[in-house]
Amino acid sequence: MTAHTPGPWRPSLYSRIFGCVVVAKRGIVVASILGDKATSDANARLIACAPELLAAVEKTVQTCSVCRGNGKLSDTHDLGECPASADLRALIVRGRGEP
Ligand SMILES: [Zn+2]
Repeated sequence: MTAHTPGPWRPSLYSRIFGCVVVAKRGIVVASILGDKATSDANARLIACAPELLAAVEKTVQTCSVCRGNGKLSDTHDLGECPASADLRALIVRGRGEP
């Protein structure tokens, strides 16, 4: 699986032709968000936060006080997945594109 473009990402200024573009270092275009200015800007701000949001979610999962970051309720018994971090682990899979 190919990794995403490293952050930080930032939204560019809005243009009627290109909408709002999200760029990484050296001006690498990560996304072009079309639509009206207000919505395009809002979506671009959210997309630009994606690398930091993913990193924060990964850090939170790694320090989960219920499962100590391994995603399981027990190290010795099959008690299932940790419910406290299950949603966040599912987001990481979606963001990384891998299980
Ligand atoms: Zn957990």
